Amino acid sequence: NLAQFRQRGPFEWEMPRQGAMRVPGVIFASRELLEAMDAKVGEQLANVAGLPGIVEAAYAMPDAHWGYGFPIGGVAAFDAEAGGVVSAGGVGFDISCGVRTLHTGLKLADIQRVQERLADVLYRRIPAGLGSTGALRLSGQAMGAMLRGGARWAVERGFGSPADLARIEESGCMAGADPSAVSEQAKKRQRDEMGTLGSGNHYLEVQVVDALFDAQAAQAYGLAAGDVLATLHCGSRGMGHQIGTDFLREMVIAAPRAGIALTDRELACAPLKSTLGQRYLGAMRAAINCALANRQILTHLAREAFAELFPGIHMPLLYDVSHNTCKEESHLVDGERRRLFVHRKGATRAFGPGHAELPAEYRTVGQPVLIGGSMGTASWVLAGGGQALAFASACHGAGRAMSRHEALRRWQGRGVVDELASRGILIRSPSLRGVAEEAPLAYKDVGAVVEAAEQAGLARRVARLRPLVCVKG
Ligand code: 5GP
Ligand code: MN
Ligand code: MN
Repeated sequence: NLAQFRQRGPFEWEMPRQGAMRVPGVIFASRELLEAMDAKVGEQLANVAGLPGIVEAAYAMPDAHWGYGFPIGGVAAFDAEAGGVVSAGGVGFDISCGVRTLHTGLKLADIQRVQERLADVLYRRIPAGLGSTGALRLSGQAMGAMLRGGARWAVERGFGSPADLARIEESGCMAGADPSAVSEQAKKRQRDEMGTLGSGNHYLEVQVVDALFDAQAAQAYGLAAGDVLATLHCGSRGMGHQIGTDFLREMVIAAPRAGIALTDRELACAPLKSTLGQRYLGAMRAAINCALANRQILTHLAREAFAELFPGIHMPLLYDVSHNTCKEESHLVDGERRRLFVHRKGATRAFGPGHAELPAEYRTVGQPVLIGGSMGTASWVLAGGGQALAFASACHGAGRAMSRHEALRRWQGRGVVDELASRGILIRSPSLRGVAEEAPLAYKDVGAVVEAAEQAGLARRVARLRPLVCVKG
């Protein structure tokens, strides 16, 4: 792995331009993380670097691993004026998958008394697992309103409160969504799936703040040692996957006519200035709203579950971040301001201090960057770095260290659940197989990943969270 890279800084590695690459590839990581990284990441970065209209570099975050076409943990920005493209594989299939963290106002001791009951109540109230359905059925008209309105639509329907919206990227509603660009099949798949967690890597976790690293940011975020938080990780369910599938197929077919030579069909993309590119953007933004509405409904369900044991509990949002998106943003490139379409796939937006889009309470310290670890290790809250590296992006998790298949070979779900229970972490899941695939050691060392993110200047560490209860999809 190392041989292809030139070290640009202690935590920054460059793959110089060669062959069809239009820009270099850059990985932010420690030497150890880079050495252990899936060799496919370098190959995929080189492919992405060859796409039309790419700006600056194809980037990978310290949690990067192999993905469909683009690496997971990958960031790439394109300029429409320079023939830039949008790629369905560059966004990912679970469009707007993301993490939302809620305060609970509780302390560790409050949970210890009721931990088993809390795990059971959450598991009963949160629809989880493959093919699970929610209590809502969306008619055609309601579907359109949801796809345009996102979390704002959900709040209007009585899920959560208007105050939640200020703590969500885009204030909970992605502009430019085009429900007419979403296939009937995608709408049909989503009809019964609002307010469901999904399977596998998605979760609702109860966590305790067990260490603080940045007092000023912790204060701005309202975090103190011993605080209990609730965190959701899920996305746009069947809708996002169907949109990804639909447009990937169309982009593969249309690419030659657009003059795009695909080295890999997984890199299928369309010019931003094309009807197909614009239709994808409209559909993808609708899927972002679907994910935001989904997390808003799940927030309501989580609050109801906590209220069963803690009547009158108040659970405001810390923040909600998406990590599979393409967003139009303004960035400085070589001293020049440009409008770019930033793909973040398994990467989190990480606006630094002073950014106008941040809620006023967070503006002095930067955007909360919410990072999953695993159900048996830490998760983290970081703050966006001031240097706006990689178009103001940071890692999104620990990142897989091995395939699901390999994890299944090594662990059994029952054993993982029992071992975690002996360490005070209660797992509830409809799938023991899923739990084995998600065993903590199937992921990289999240501590090393966030340290690399901090050292590289992507984001600063604010708080480390320890899991207490995890409802796994
Ligand atoms: P992804 O969006 O790529 O599927 O997953 C994001 C990250 O979530 C993974 O890289 C992993 O570090 C983290 N993660 C996966 N499962 C769990 C879990 O059960 N609990 C926590 N806290 N993090 C998890
Ligand atoms: Mn995710
Ligand atoms: Mn997901």
